[in-house]
Amino acid sequence: MQAFDVAIAGGGIIGSALAWELQRAERNVVLLDRQQPGQEASWAAAGILSPSFEVPDSVPLVPLARASLQLYPEFVAAVEHATGRATGFRQAASLQIFFGEGAQRECGALITAHRGAGLPTRAISADEVRGMEPALNPDVRAAALLPDEARIDPRLLSAAVLEAARNAGAEVRAGVEVTDLMIEGGRCVGVLAGSERIPAAHVVIAAGCFCGQMQAVARYAPTRPVRGQMMAFRSPGVNLSHIVNSDRGYLVPREDGRLLAGSTLEDAGFEKAVTPAGLQKILAAALEIAPGLATAPIIESWSGLRPDTPDHLPIIGPTDVEGLWISTGHFRNGILLAPISARVIRDWMDGNALPVSMTEFSPMRFSENTIKQPR
Ligand SMILES: Cc1cc2nc3c(=O)[nH]c(=O)nc-3n(C[C@H](O)[C@H](O)[C@H](O)COP(=O)(O)OP(=O)(O)OC[C@H]3O[C@@H](n4cnc5c(N)ncnc54)[C@H](O)[C@@H]3O)c2cc1C
Repeated sequence: MQAFDVAIAGGGIIGSALAWELQRAERNVVLLDRQQPGQEASWAAAGILSPSFEVPDSVPLVPLARASLQLYPEFVAAVEHATGRATGFRQAASLQIFFGEGAQRECGALITAHRGAGLPTRAISADEVRGMEPALNPDVRAAALLPDEARIDPRLLSAAVLEAARNAGAEVRAGVEVTDLMIEGGRCVGVLAGSERIPAAHVVIAAGCFCGQMQAVARYAPTRPVRGQMMAFRSPGVNLSHIVNSDRGYLVPREDGRLLAGSTLEDAGFEKAVTPAGLQKILAAALEIAPGLATAPIIESWSGLRPDTPDHLPIIGPTDVEGLWISTGHFRNGILLAPISARVIRDWMDGNALPVSMTEFSPMRFSENTIKQPR
């Protein structure tokens, strides 16, 4: 039986990017997905690549997010070169707009919080923002510019990264559900897929929100699904060149002319569904941002399950079982964080110093033991 250097469970953007990174580093990788890879959260995402944050809980993520965003141009260029596929990557500032009486105060608070975390967010006038995006609601009262941001088409990216991993020599197996770990002498030596044994020197569990359902790893990766609904318009009359966020939702322009609107944050178990209440919320936000969308054809709606964790931070790194690694819990930022998550695990496996501190993202933080990161 062939023993792989690394077996990865889960072929979303996190597992695929890791498979590609490790295979390029001459490790012999098998990527296992219980369905066709790339059909879950990574397929549903909006593709906003932003290191900014909405709630103070997310501040620890900023250095990791910035490090990942810095890797993005090279990551995308390498994927596109390896596959000949486009990914819809575009580096462009994002806008945050505010309505109503409290607009100036809310905008000021956002800028102060972002500056405190080292982000170069700055105020722009309502006139300036309407000049940049004439389709915006004339009722905008205050705005902020987030300069170092980008966007991508996650469906194109996921497919391209998977193909790049395959082209580099990774074995990709669809329809293979990892059901348990192979543990020998206290070490993880592979995975079980039903009665099939798949030996590997290292195992990385990257099964998104489904990790919490896997009995063997749930103590390291207690993920839960948070549903997000999305919709897309085709509207030649409403052109945006920036991502526009409000406190109710966002609009994301795609390179192919579609305009995406999102999203919801729902506790709905594992049920992927588009609901009237969800669409109503998204539509209200979209029309408040760009009222001209009222007559635009809706061309698609969908939902996906974000992998959330008890502290809303990702879970990345080794466990106290030798050979067992976790990379999940990327919640609202998995597309953004894919390059750095892959790089960190490769560096860790190679015994190299890590590009960023990973202490706060340890799989061991939900239990009492700790694992030290290499210096
Ligand atoms: C509506 C929405 C909008 C979003 N917008 C953004 C955004 O703008 N920017 C951003 O950065 N992020 C965004 N996200 C978050 C992002 O999509 C996720 O964080 C990311 O896709 C998680 O990737 P993943 O590979 O961990 O999980 P997934 O893409 O869910 O992949 C997990 C894979 O594991 C497989 N699997 C599960 N169990 C097993 C098993 N036992 N054995 C084998 N395989 C298994 C599944 O089949 C699946 O293919 C958004 C998410 C949603 C839902």
